[in-house]
Amino acid sequence: MSNPEERDHKKLGKELELFTFSDTVGKGLPLWLPKGAAIRRELERFIVDEEIKRGYQHVRTPDIAKLDLYKKSGHYPYYKDGMYAPIVIDDEEFMLRPMTCPHHFELYLSKPRSYRDLPMRIAELAQLYRYEQSGELMGLQRTRTFCLSDAHIICKNEEEAVEEIGKALDLIEYANNIFGLKPGEDYWYRLSLGDRNNTEKYYKDDAGWDKAEDLLRKHMQSRGVKFTEAENEAAFYGPKIDVQMKNANGKEDTAFTVQYDLSSPQRFELDYIGEDGQKHRAFVVHRSSIGAMERLMAFLIEKYAGAFPLWLSPVQVKVLPIGEGHFDYARKVHERLMQEGIRSELDESNESLGKKIRNAKTEKVFYTVVIGDSEVSENKVTVEGRESKLGTMPVDEFISKLKEEIKRRG
Ligand SMILES: [Zn+2]
Repeated sequence: MSNPEERDHKKLGKELELFTFSDTVGKGLPLWLPKGAAIRRELERFIVDEEIKRGYQHVRTPDIAKLDLYKKSGHYPYYKDGMYAPIVIDDEEFMLRPMTCPHHFELYLSKPRSYRDLPMRIAELAQLYRYEQSGELMGLQRTRTFCLSDAHIICKNEEEAVEEIGKALDLIEYANNIFGLKPGEDYWYRLSLGDRNNTEKYYKDDAGWDKAEDLLRKHMQSRGVKFTEAENEAAFYGPKIDVQMKNANGKEDTAFTVQYDLSSPQRFELDYIGEDGQKHRAFVVHRSSIGAMERLMAFLIEKYAGAFPLWLSPVQVKVLPIGEGHFDYARKVHERLMQEGIRSELDESNESLGKKIRNAKTEKVFYTVVIGDSEVSENKVTVEGRESKLGTMPVDEFISKLKEEIKRRG
C-alpha cells in the first residue's frame, strides 16, 4: 500500500462506499454515504466533546446572512471572488456564508459583556460555501461547501490572545496525536506574515501588525517547535500560524490555522466592561481545531489507506455465521452489539466462510466474529482482528474489550 494511487482518497472513498458525487446535485458538493457519515460523526463528537472540556461554548448560526454583514466584516469586497452571487429575498440581498466570524461577532454583541465573560471561546461546526473553479475541485480535498471546526476567541488584551493561541495549538497537537500524526514529521508550523505595502490585500495598521507578528514569533520560539516564516501569506486582518501537512500526492497544504485579528474588533466594536467599570476594546483570535471535515476525511483516508482505527471504523464488527443453522444466534450477537453502540454488520449471505472473511477484509472491517456449532453451544464468539487473532470468548467479554478499545481511540 505504499503506492500513492492505492491510497488516493477518491479511489478508496468509492471502493469503501464513504462518499459520492452526483452531477445532478452539482460539482464539488459531496454526498456522504452512511459509512463516511459514521466516520464524520465520530470526528465531530470527538472534537465537540474535547472543546467543551477545554472551555469552548458551542453555538449554531445560520448558513446565510445579509450581504450587509459581510460588508461590515470587510469580507466583502476583500473576499468577493471566493463568494457566490447574492440571493435576493424580499428585496434584500443575502449571501451563502464563506466564513463564520461575523456571525459569531454578532452573537457576542447580543448582550453587554464583562471582563468576567472573557476569554469567551465561541465554537461551531459551521457549514461554509466558497467558490472554487471547476478545474480546481478534487474529491473531498477541494469542494464548494465544507464544514469547518471553527471558533472565535474574544480576549481582554494581546497577552490573553497569545495565551489563547497557545491553547489552540495545544488542542491541535492533542487531536493530531490521536490521529497518529507527529510534529515535525507529519505536520509543521508556518508563521504567515503580512506585507505593510500591500494595502489592497491587508488591513492597514502597521503598529498593530508589528506587535502581533512579534508576539506570535515569540510564542512559537517559546514552544520550542520548528516553524517556518512565510511573507505575504497572512489573512487580510492579521498574521496567523498555519499547521501545514502533505497530502498523498506530496502537495503541501494548510490543514489548520490560528489567526490573530487586528480588524474585526474595530469593525464590530467588540467591547467589554473592564474591572475599572470602563469600556475596553476586545482582541480576537480565529482558529480551527481539526479543520474542515471534508479535508480531514480526505487526509485520514489516505493516511490509513482506508483501514481506519477501531473508533473510526464504519464497520467495527462483522458477524459471520458459518451456516444457516447459526443465523439465529449470529443475529442475536449482532443485535446485542448494535444495542451497545457498536457498529456491527451481519453477513447473512450463502457464501462460504472463506469468501465471507475475504469480503470483510476487502471492506477493511476491524473485527470479524465467526459463529459455528461450538460458539452457539457455548454462548461464545470467535474473534479475529485485522492484524491479530483474539480467539474464542464470551460475548460480554468481547463487548467490554471493544468498548475499552474504542474509548482509548488508539
Ligand atoms: Zn473567523
